[in-house]
Amino acid sequence: MEQKLVVYNSLKGEKESFKPINKDHVGMYVCGPTVYSNVHLGNCRTFISFDLIFRYLQYLGYKVRYVRNITDAGHLENDSDEGEDRIAKKARLESIEPMEVVQRYTIDFRDTMAKFNALPPSIEPTATGHLVEQIEFIKKILDQGYAYEVNGSVYFDVLKFNKDMPYGKLSRRNIEELVHNSRALDGQSDKRNPQDFALWKKAEPKHIMRWPSPWSDGFPGWHLECTAMSTKYLGTQFDIHGGGMDLKFPHHECEIAQAEAVNKKNPVNYWLHANMLTLNGKKMAKSTGNNILPYEMFSGENSILKKSFSPMVTRFFMLQAHYRSIVDLSQSALEASEKGFNRLVEGILMLDQLVASDSSSDFNIGEWNKNCYSAMNDDFNSPSLIAYLFDAVKYINAVSSGLKKISSEDLESLSKSMKGFFYEVLGLLTPEKDKNENESKQLIGTLELLMTLRDNARADKDFKTSDLIRNSLEKIQIQINDTEEGTSFKVY
Ligand code: AMP
Ligand code: ZN
Repeated sequence: MEQKLVVYNSLKGEKESFKPINKDHVGMYVCGPTVYSNVHLGNCRTFISFDLIFRYLQYLGYKVRYVRNITDAGHLENDSDEGEDRIAKKARLESIEPMEVVQRYTIDFRDTMAKFNALPPSIEPTATGHLVEQIEFIKKILDQGYAYEVNGSVYFDVLKFNKDMPYGKLSRRNIEELVHNSRALDGQSDKRNPQDFALWKKAEPKHIMRWPSPWSDGFPGWHLECTAMSTKYLGTQFDIHGGGMDLKFPHHECEIAQAEAVNKKNPVNYWLHANMLTLNGKKMAKSTGNNILPYEMFSGENSILKKSFSPMVTRFFMLQAHYRSIVDLSQSALEASEKGFNRLVEGILMLDQLVASDSSSDFNIGEWNKNCYSAMNDDFNSPSLIAYLFDAVKYINAVSSGLKKISSEDLESLSKSMKGFFYEVLGLLTPEKDKNENESKQLIGTLELLMTLRDNARADKDFKTSDLIRNSLEKIQIQINDTEEGTSFKVY
């Protein structure tokens, strides 16, 4: 791992050298979706940002355990401790089981992320699959004296915790400010103080998503699942925790408090937060209706854009911005990305057609390659990387039209780097047509090689090998014909 990766750590508010706890291994947790509706493009942007990060860490050679949860219980309306569970509400409105809602939108989420060529996480745990761990975690917080039970619900005692360990360090809020800004309790709540948050809520009779616990039939608080599951799979202290900026407070702040209350140490070394996708200058969100769904984008069935855009163009559009910058989605920005993407794809495909010359190259590939890595090492700066890829495309085009030269050694190294950054780091794909063409080219090349090996074997009277090649190919419907003119093959 010679590359010096620097990441912006939200906890410190500055860029820091990245040093994992266990050399060569990285543990990364990212808050996943609440599966009560189709993911919109804003949600997708956050997950694509972390896909880029996951991919680049692996490209650098790290073994990454990437845990991204599915929230299938406990996330109430308005992100608060009151109101209906989002999944239960959807189930009620559609007269179906909550788990049918969960199944439908988990599938939608996975299908959508696959369309964007996002790699699946190493572990994708669910909140309902980890109720035992969550209940155990609450018991530990209670044992430490940082939570209290009232009428079957358990709340985290923020003021008490803050006396021993500062609360608010991630979002840079101090407790006085929080107390000042909190609405007074309305007399209905069981909380001692408005800043406290639920670890376990007793279910009202009509609340159908409920499980037994030592305190009541109820459900876990939203912040708890991430602490319970990240600890289970990554340990009490791990490398990276990610999510959208909007989760910094209260969600991530509460995660830190829960973990510190039990383990008495900072749970996460690097907090990474992805910025928002906006539409008409406003955050894309489910609740306001200011959003576009992925299928509406791919099919063009929406009232905002004049044409459809493919998943790869959409992904490229998102990666053209740094993950910590806001991006506004618009027709003109997408059209510009589409043009850029097509130009990049042409460059990638042209690499295989370039003819190397005997003379030296007109481009310093080593320097260029270093710049590409430096861009990504600077807090995953994909727009800067893409700018370097465009420099290379310009050069590839010039070589193709005979204006510039490339040596065969440089061609090999340029091709390897370009394809590595394009396919593996940025996670982009060339259009299907080109992919099929490439595949058939590769198949024909492989078959021609096998024919040559078989001809050589026959010439050496090694009929065992020549028969093995013929019989093996016949088993997969590829027939060999030996004629006077030579050997040919037919693919059925
Ligand atoms: P949710 O399903 O609401 O828990 O959100 C899933 C993820 O999407 C979270 O990490 C949010 O921060 C993120 N997210 C929600 N809206 C946007 C947006 N407009 N742009 C980028 N990320 C978003
Ligand atoms: Zn979370």
